This record gives sequence, C-alpha cells and structure tokens, in this order.
Amino acid sequence: MSDFPDGTVWLVGAGPGDPELLTRKAERLIGMATVVFHDALVGPGVLELANRAARLVHVGKRSGRHSKDQATIDKLIVAAALAGERVVRLKGGDPAIFGRATEELEACHGAGVPVRICPGVTAASAAAASLGQSLTLRGRARKLTFVTAHARAGEALDLDWATLADPEATLAIYMGKAAAGDLSRQLIAAGLPAQTPVALVESASLSTERQFHSRLDLLPLVARTALGDGPALLLIGRAMQVGGVPEQAAARTAREEVL
Ligand code: SAH
Repeated sequence: MSDFPDGTVWLVGAGPGDPELLTRKAERLIGMATVVFHDALVGPGVLELANRAARLVHVGKRSGRHSKDQATIDKLIVAAALAGERVVRLKGGDPAIFGRATEELEACHGAGVPVRICPGVTAASAAAASLGQSLTLRGRARKLTFVTAHARAGEALDLDWATLADPEATLAIYMGKAAAGDLSRQLIAAGLPAQTPVALVESASLSTERQFHSRLDLLPLVARTALGDGPALLLIGRAMQVGGVPEQAAARTAREEVL
C-alpha cells in the first residue's frame, strides 16, 4: 500500500540545497508528486527530481519579498489535495524548523486532508558539516539552541537575551543577517564575551557557499561587508573556535609530547 495516495499531502524537507543531502524518502516522494509547491530556498537540482508531468509551483518567500502569503499557500495546498492530486510541499532544510509547518498542517487537518512530514537536513547541520566543525563540544558546549532572528518590519528583536547569552551553548541563528548588529550588542550586554567565536556560512552545501570566521563583537561588520544575497546561518559559541578549543589543543599537544 502506497504511503502517497491521491488526495494527500507530504511536507517534505528539501535540505540545504545540495540534492545529495535529500533523504531517499524525499527523493521518492518528489518523484511521485503530481504537484510540487516549493520555496525560494529549494535548489534547482532538487526540483529536477520531479516527474516531467508534475506541476512545479513557486510559492517562495524571501524576507521582504513575499510572493504569496501563508494563507494563500495553505489554500493552494488544500485545494490541490481536494482535487485529487498527490501534493508535495517542498521546504528548504527541515520543514519543522522555522518552516511555517504548523499552519499548513492545520489547514490540511481542517479540510480533512491527510498530511505527513518527511524531515530534512537543517541549515545548522549543513553549515557545521561545511565548516568541518561540531555544533556541540563535550563538556564545553552542552546546549544547542536554534533561534530565529527574524523581526517584523520596524520592530526590535524580542529575544530572551539572558538565556541566550550562555557560554556553554552554541547558538544557531536562522534569518539573522539583518539582525547581526542587535544580536552582537545584546548578547555582549547580557554577558557573553566579546571574543566569543562566530562562524557565518552563506549558501551552505551549494556551489556558491562562503564561510567566515570572526568574533561576536565583529559580527555586525562581517555580516554587513562580507555576506552576499544568499541565505546565511550564524553560529555563535565556543564550539566555533577555529582549530579547536585552546585548552583542548593544549591538552593535545601535551599528550603528543608524552607519546
Ligand atoms: N527550514 C529551514 C529554515 C528556514 S528559515 C531549515 O531547516 O534549514 C530560512 C533561513 O534558514 C535562512 O534565512 C538562513 O538563515 C537559513 N538557511 C537556509 N538554507 C541555508 C543554506 N543553504 N545556507 C545557510 N543558511 C541557510
């Protein structure tokens, strides 16, 4: 019995861009769909996996350039399923992380349309993999926090800075480019050291990928001057130290000397 009958919806994680970072399940579902509603962040290599006869509908949203609002997207998905289509709603990264999945799930539930989720590789994992670094660090970065730094136009970022400024955490900040100044100032004011390592990865996993290493107080400068138009993930915390954490590097050297 197929897991993708006519008249049903899958919210599918497209991963960070590189088609090889799709799950095998995502690849199969994309190939089975009769219609694919996709985001701006879904790469062309991923869309090529759709059936030739399938309709590809771009419903992309990039900050400040909303081409379709969320309610319209919800309606399109539900209408296609009710018309008997096999609907894939393809979202960048993982659909359940800053992906407005709840609205789409509720719209389907409300219309009696069966809907399921296929997870994807989220941008933070892709960025760490590209950097060749771990997001966590045994005993030193025990917490990984996913944060969206997207603020409504004209509004200040309303985040719990005291909780975020935890020297034992790694912050993975989505949609944080425009807010880099605020992030840096507020985290330092809340007690995070100015020299806390920061990594920025733009267009992780794509051929246009770029990486930058800096420190928290210089983050606004790097974000403003070095980043381009691609989606960018900011990673803040000790785990982002280039070449490993100083104490660990020292311990390594000491051990090498003993050996
Ligand atoms: N659901 C997605 C996140 C959507 S929010 C996920 O799980 O990855 C969009 C934000 O994700 C972008 O503003 C950026 O911060 C981040 N992002 C998405 N794709 C990225 C990529 N290839 N490289 C770097 N950051 C990316």
